[in-house]
Amino acid sequence: MTIQGLKDYRCPHCKSDRCGNDANAGWDVVTQQSVLLGEFDAQWCNDCGDVTLEEFEITDAQEIARIDAARAALAIEAAAPLLLAAAEAALGDLSAACAKGYVPMAIEQLTAAIAAARPERREGMQVGAQPLI
Ligand SMILES: [Zn+2]
Repeated sequence: MTIQGLKDYRCPHCKSDRCGNDANAGWDVVTQQSVLLGEFDAQWCNDCGDVTLEEFEITDAQEIARIDAARAALAIEAAAPLLLAAAEAALGDLSAACAKGYVPMAIEQLTAAIAAARPERREGMQVGAQPLI
């Protein structure tokens, strides 16, 4: 079965989602939390023990909406460095930037960074927009 949408795994016996793969974790000194280093083929269910998990497509509209919202938040988080750099470029020294004609370039950088953070809005955005001041 080829899954086109979002997939998840569950126990084939009790249908529980309290299941997973054996894995190896380490410590990330920067984030100060455990991180996944690798996963193994061995799978388990909290209630049934060792099993081979079944893959299935998520079809519940509310669950899909919740996952989409969480993925959009992750896209914004990933684009934060771009947005910060573009905002600093745009606002760093606005009067000097205006004098040198950097504002259109800064707006273009902001527009590109926002498009990276929110790709679904790309069509409505004006790349190369006119300066606001
Ligand atoms: Zn189970």
